[in-house]
Amino acid sequence: MTATLIDGKAIAAGLRAEVAARVKSFHAKAGRLPGLTVVLVGDDPASEVYVRNKGIQTREAGMISDEIRLPGSISQAELLAVVRKLNEDDAVDGILVQMPLPKQIDANAVIAAIDPAKDVDGLHPVNAGKLAQGMKALTPCTPLGCMILLEKSGVKVAGSNALVIGRSILVGRPVAALLLAANATVTIAHSQSRDLAALCRQADIVVAAVGRPELVRGEWIRPGACVLDVGINRMPGEGGKSKLIGDVHFASAREVAGQITPVPGGVGPMTIACLLQNTLTAACWRSGIDPETV
Ligand code: NAD
Repeated sequence: MTATLIDGKAIAAGLRAEVAARVKSFHAKAGRLPGLTVVLVGDDPASEVYVRNKGIQTREAGMISDEIRLPGSISQAELLAVVRKLNEDDAVDGILVQMPLPKQIDANAVIAAIDPAKDVDGLHPVNAGKLAQGMKALTPCTPLGCMILLEKSGVKVAGSNALVIGRSILVGRPVAALLLAANATVTIAHSQSRDLAALCRQADIVVAAVGRPELVRGEWIRPGACVLDVGINRMPGEGGKSKLIGDVHFASAREVAGQITPVPGGVGPMTIACLLQNTLTAACWRSGIDPETV
């Protein structure tokens, strides 16, 4: 059996087009455009690429995109002052502080300083708490993307056994909360878990969010299972170029799985598309508009 590929690129393009159409409807109702501000500290090359792509896709969706670039030597107090100013700026619906931050900065303090209503990354403890309690919240983008991929691929989540590998606040925990809210029976595995292979063999849905290239082997996968590979591992490729490898051994897993995301082109493209959706949701809530009506 060869798995059906889940085409994250195409599903993300569809979601971006949907958001762009809804932005027009929001504009007609609110008389303004949603605005996203990304704060980039330092000059990490990977972050530069992400931020550039976020800017391009935000503008393509018809929203206002702003970037604030700050030196890597910035102090904690100075960065918090920038965040507070954005909290008070009425034209800003979404604030995203690009991670990772330099060593002298306490990333948790920065996340906690963002107005939860503008926390389009969904990482603020208020939003994480709401998600854990099954309340409406701004939800982390990659986990939201995983749920949309499952839905668009017709995967039955309710009643399924779902295994989430990884327990970060960015991916593992929120995706587990979303799967639970969708009535899956959820297991969370992490670096101290015993016998990952046995846990995998019981899972109808596997979400791998570890950051270890090809950790999950094809022989661990239950035949017909759906495998979402969140991992992005940059490895040396041919001709001095780097290539991206997932957390799943794709060649062996696709022989057993029912559906699988490739890396790249699977979960990755969903993240920015969901960031745009979150920005629109934040703009609606801040303007007293039900997001379902735009
Ligand atoms: P993280 O380092 O914060 O967390 C990794 C988790 O994996 C930890 O909870 C740890 O307990 C667990 N872990 C480590 N070794 C393990 C092992 N041997 N067995 C089981 N669990 C183990 O990473 P993260 O931020 O959650 O990101 C995970 C991966 O997803 C990375 O490759 C990252 O680049 C990628 N990622 C992709 C996207 C995207 O597609 N847009 C977004 C975020 C993260």
